[in-house]
Amino acid sequence: MKGYIARIFTSFVDVPGRIVTAVYFSGCSIRCKGCHNKEMWDKKNGTLMTDEQVLEKIKNNPLSEYVAFLGGEPTDQLKFLLHLCKKIKEEVGKPIAMYSGREFEVLPKELLDYLSFLVCGPYRQDLHVESGWPASSNQRVFKKKDTQWNC
Ligand code: SF4
Repeated sequence: MKGYIARIFTSFVDVPGRIVTAVYFSGCSIRCKGCHNKEMWDKKNGTLMTDEQVLEKIKNNPLSEYVAFLGGEPTDQLKFLLHLCKKIKEEVGKPIAMYSGREFEVLPKELLDYLSFLVCGPYRQDLHVESGWPASSNQRVFKKKDTQWNC
């Protein structure tokens, strides 16, 4: 299976206190006013990668404690995203985080079941947070403990 990916790198900021392999999806249909990642709106600006290519980069980063999906909008390529989550669970075993411009309530349960950490909601320029995390104050941070999500 293939999907459009903008970049993959090690991050120290996307899950507080954790080293993360950050996988940026390319393409976003949400198009928030004031978005800082406009170059990722068109998925074709990214690279078409196979699941195996993405997994290889994740596996080759032994220091990372988490895998995070960001963008762009990861859920715009839902089938590829779910497939990667399944493979990470089976072959990597690290917890998965996601940043989405969509609200928690509209995300499919099948996807939520794979995730441990989630930042949800569109960027609102009028609610911009100076410290930059989350990017705007309407965005909600969810953490899963056992099988329960806490906001
Ligand atoms: S969801 Fe994220 S990438 Fe998409 S427009 Fe909003 S801020 Fe930009």
